[in-house]
Amino acid sequence: METKSIELSGWGRYPRRVETVICPEQIADAVPPPVGRMIARGQGRSYGDAAMLADGLVMLTEQLAEVSELNEATGILTAQAGATLAEVIDTFLPRGWFPAVVPGTRFVSLGGCVAADIHGKNHHRDSGFGAHVDEIEIVLADGSRRRCSPRQNSDLFWATVGGMGLTGIITEVSFQLIPVETSYLMVQHDQAKDLDQSFKVLSDKAWDDHYTVAWIDCLAKKGNVGRGVLMRGHHARRNDLPDSLRGQPFAKARRQRNLGFDFPSWTLNSVGMRAFNELYYRLQGRRQRPFIADYEGFFFPLDRIGNWNRIYGKRGFIQYQCVLPAANAFDGMRALLEAQAAAGRSSFLSVLKRFGPQGQGLLSFPFEGYTLTLDLPVDDDQLLPFLDRLDDIVLQHGGRVYLAKDARLAAPAFRAMYPRLAEWLRVKSAVDPENCFDSDLARRLEIVTAAS
Ligand SMILES: Cc1cc2nc3c(=O)[nH]c(=O)nc-3n(C[C@H](O)[C@H](O)[C@H](O)COP(=O)(O)OP(=O)(O)OC[C@H]3O[C@@H](n4cnc5c(N)ncnc54)[C@H](O)[C@@H]3O)c2cc1C
Repeated sequence: METKSIELSGWGRYPRRVETVICPEQIADAVPPPVGRMIARGQGRSYGDAAMLADGLVMLTEQLAEVSELNEATGILTAQAGATLAEVIDTFLPRGWFPAVVPGTRFVSLGGCVAADIHGKNHHRDSGFGAHVDEIEIVLADGSRRRCSPRQNSDLFWATVGGMGLTGIITEVSFQLIPVETSYLMVQHDQAKDLDQSFKVLSDKAWDDHYTVAWIDCLAKKGNVGRGVLMRGHHARRNDLPDSLRGQPFAKARRQRNLGFDFPSWTLNSVGMRAFNELYYRLQGRRQRPFIADYEGFFFPLDRIGNWNRIYGKRGFIQYQCVLPAANAFDGMRALLEAQAAAGRSSFLSVLKRFGPQGQGLLSFPFEGYTLTLDLPVDDDQLLPFLDRLDDIVLQHGGRVYLAKDARLAAPAFRAMYPRLAEWLRVKSAVDPENCFDSDLARRLEIVTAAS
C-alpha cells in the first residue's frame, strides 16, 4: 500500500513531526506491517502524541467508516471504527437516538473513543464509553481478527478499552445508543463563588442531573479562587419544548466556521482572559432558570469553530487533565490552582467535573473523584518543568493524568499513576510479543520498552 510523509500532531499541535502514514480504503487492508511498527489513528483529536509514531507507520482509519444498521430493539449500533460520532449523530439523532457517552467534540472516531475510553459529562452516572461497548473487532499483530467483548476474550477487551491503540487495530465497534425524544437539553446554570462551593454543588445529590460540569475561572484571585459556573442538564422531552420547537424536535446541525490563521501568542494574555472570564462568570452564571439548549451548544460548544486550536498560536498548547480521588480532591485541586497562580500561568479554558466509579479498562483514566482540565499555551521554556510540578501534586494526592491529553508525562510518573499497568502488560505480551503496535506516547512512557 502507498505510504506518504506528512506533518502530524495531536489537537494541541505539540509536538509536531513529519511521519509516515498509510490510509487503507477497505477493512481487509487494515493489517499490521510485515516488518516494523504501527499505530492506528482516528481523527487526531487526542491532544498529544498518542496517535503518532516517528519511526513506524501511522494507519489513518478515516476511510474505514461504514455505519451498519441500528438494532432498534436494543439501541446497539455497529460501525467501522473510523466512523465518527458526528456521522453517527447526524444519521441517528433525527431518528431519536444519541450515543450513551460523548466527549467535548463530536469529531472523534469510534476507535478513538474505545482506545481512550473517553468520558462525558455523565461519567458520574454512566461511566465511560467502554462501559457501553457491546463488542469490538480487533486486528492483532499476527494479522488475525479477534472479536472481543466483556463476555468473550474479556482480557483483551479491557486491555483495548483505554489501551491507546497499543493492543491492535480496532476495525469495528458495536455500542449503545440511548433513545431521546428531542435533540435539545433542559439546562440550568448556577454560580459558585469559590472552589469550596463548586465542590459542594457538584457533589450535592439534590443538584445533580444526567449531565454535569463546571467551568472554573482560573484567574480569579484570593478568596475567589476556583469560582465557577456550574452546568447541569438532561435530554429534553418533547413536552418540555416551547410551541415553536415542538413541531420540529430535532434541530439541524449548524454550520462550522474556520479560523484562517494562527493567532499571535499574545492574544491570550491574562488581561484579555480576565475580562472574558469576568463576563462569562456573570452572564452564564446568571442563567439560573431552566432553559432549552440545542445538543451542539451543550455538548460540543468548541466544535462551532473548526480549528479553534489555532488561537494558541504556532507553538501549540498542552491540555493538562488529571483526576484526584474524592477524599483528596479539594486540597489537591486547590494546590494545583495555587501553583498555577504562583507561576503566573493562565488557562483559557478550565473545567472541573465529578467522576463516578472506575471502569474496567486496565489503563482507563477515570476513577471516582474529580477531574480538572487546563489549557496551557506552549509559549516559554518553563512550561514543561511547571507541568512536572503539577504531576508531583497529582501524585501526592493519589491522582493521575489522562493519556489522551498527554504530550509530556515522564515514564516514572506514569507508572506510579497507573497501578494496573502490570496486568495490561501481560495481555500486551500475549497478543503482541514483538511490540508491533507502538506510538510516540508509548515510547516516551516506556510502555513498549517495558513489554519487550
Ligand atoms: C475539543 C475536544 C474535546 C474533548 N473532550 C473530551 C472529553 O470530554 N472527554 C474525553 O474523554 N476526551 C475528550 N477529548 C479527547 C478525545 O475524545 C480523545 O482523544 C479521542 O480518543 C479522540 O479520538 P480520535 O478519533 O481523534 O483518536 P486519535 O486522536 O486519532 O487517537 C487517540 C488514540 O486512539 C487510538 N486509536 C484511534 N483509532 C484507533 C483504532 N481504529 N484502533 C486502535 N486504536 C485507535 C490511537 O492509537 C490513539 O492512541 C476531547 C478532544 C477535543 C479535541
